[in-house]
Amino acid sequence: MQITDHIHALKIPFAINDPAGRKVPRFVYSYLICGKKICLIDSGVAGSEKIILNYLEKTGRSPQDITRLILTHSHPDHIGAARAVKRISGCTVLAHAAEKSWIEDVELQAKERPVPGFHSLVGGSVRVDRTVRDGEIVALEEGLALLVLHTPGHSAGSISLWLAGEGALFSADAVPIPGDMPIYQDISESFRSIKRLASFPEIKLLLSAWDEPRFGGEAYRIMDDGLRYLERIHGCVLKVARASQSSSPIEPCRQVLIELGLPQTMANPLVAASFQASLKAGMERSRQDLLEN
Ligand SMILES: [Zn+2]
Repeated sequence: MQITDHIHALKIPFAINDPAGRKVPRFVYSYLICGKKICLIDSGVAGSEKIILNYLEKTGRSPQDITRLILTHSHPDHIGAARAVKRISGCTVLAHAAEKSWIEDVELQAKERPVPGFHSLVGGSVRVDRTVRDGEIVALEEGLALLVLHTPGHSAGSISLWLAGEGALFSADAVPIPGDMPIYQDISESFRSIKRLASFPEIKLLLSAWDEPRFGGEAYRIMDDGLRYLERIHGCVLKVARASQSSSPIEPCRQVLIELGLPQTMANPLVAASFQASLKAGMERSRQDLLEN
């Protein structure tokens, strides 16, 4: 789907297994910035190369037009097809240094962050050819350049990208959607990152990995909703932790999900780890503290 003169969005469906082994449908957005050459932002899960190639064919482009693949972070739904895309196109792969080890060694990631069905989501390791850092400009071609914004929280090396010419902000997984599965590694960093993104004055278009494109004022509303959602989650986690006697993280995780009105199918180790991260941020820190710092 073409969004602006240069930006195209690809909605990629996939499924993850819940703890009972049932398939839970999910989706992720990858983006193409199409000029003379193409920059792909995230690759989707394993097998997504077929969706990407089909789209290129439909729009009269060739796979070799992809010269860059920027991975916003190392999670399976973003890097799953990276190896295949690089093999087919010969593109250069870019990512933040803090995500490099899990991209270049997916077995290490599977061991340290065992997402259910990991190996069906990830098609192999891929070399990061260039690491990028906050404030760096990735010049795509005359008149098209991306500003790299380090937006940690969801993961340590998560990046967002700002395409000034089109007022487009690619926020990857930085901004949570109310009602969606809460996944973050450091809640304070998440707050800071969303607030930083929301402080950009001229966002015309917010392009998230897990939401449809949002235009104008709606973009700011989505970021504000994301902040409020994190604030609510954090409050519930602290409340449940104060009342809980359980030593295992899954039981309080179930309780928090009930408090938030979220389905019990979300009670998995990743969500439990996010809630543990809230606890780590400090039992004593109030929600207001978190918002202000
Ligand atoms: Zn992610």
